[in-house]
Amino acid sequence: MRFASLGSGSEGNALVVEAGGGATLTRVLLDCGFSAKEVERRLARAGLGADSLTAILITHEHSDHIGSALTLARRWAIPLYMSWGTAQAVGADDADVDLNVLWGDETVEIGELGVLPYTVPHDAREPLQYVFSDGASRLGVLTDVGESTPHIGNVLGGCDALVLECNHDLDMLATSRYPASLKARIGGSHGHLNNVAAGGILAGIDRAKLRHLIAAHLSQQNNTPELARAAMAAVLGNAATEVGVASQAEGFDWISL
Ligand SMILES: [Zn+2]
Ligand SMILES: [Zn+2]
Repeated sequence: MRFASLGSGSEGNALVVEAGGGATLTRVLLDCGFSAKEVERRLARAGLGADSLTAILITHEHSDHIGSALTLARRWAIPLYMSWGTAQAVGADDADVDLNVLWGDETVEIGELGVLPYTVPHDAREPLQYVFSDGASRLGVLTDVGESTPHIGNVLGGCDALVLECNHDLDMLATSRYPASLKARIGGSHGHLNNVAAGGILAGIDRAKLRHLIAAHLSQQNNTPELARAAMAAVLGNAATEVGVASQAEGFDWISL
């Protein structure tokens, strides 16, 4: 299994996850949060065509995640996967697409990938986050979550790689020029994870197999790669886990498990 990000942050998110190879290659896009033209440009930058996607999976209906998913799914006849609530929120029922409804905590097989959607608290209709497995390795993804839950800790334990939201630094958000209502939304229990909260999740899970950790969905106003990296390093100590940071413009390069 390998994965790469096409971009991560409040201006758009898309993650490519692959398993198998040759005739059995499975390649899914998790979130499609840019314009169709921009997703295709970013896929091309990674050497991929949209027509090579096995499926598009969606976490929730916010524009930095749903983006052009319906357009691309229709244009290239790509199956779409999302929760019932997300489908309702974006009108996927009436969009002339191959819609597959996911239920929280029920694993589905998409080609060579086992895909576990799991429930999280966020201010969307029925948001899901995902754990991917090819039978040998597990990749856990968690962004757009207001606070940890016992369930999140259970699901993310034992992963080989994690893409973990480090949205904001608490001090930077508190002193930013954002209006009070926006600060409350971002920092609230259905908003986004700050660096300390992300570190708390990391500290609480089984990290015995964790080899790669990527800090993701960083705010460009209220965080820095250095602060996010330091928060992760503080928890990991001397563990042999590689820490990376996903950027809005570039995402991150392929990581193989
Ligand atoms: Zn988001
Ligand atoms: Zn969101």
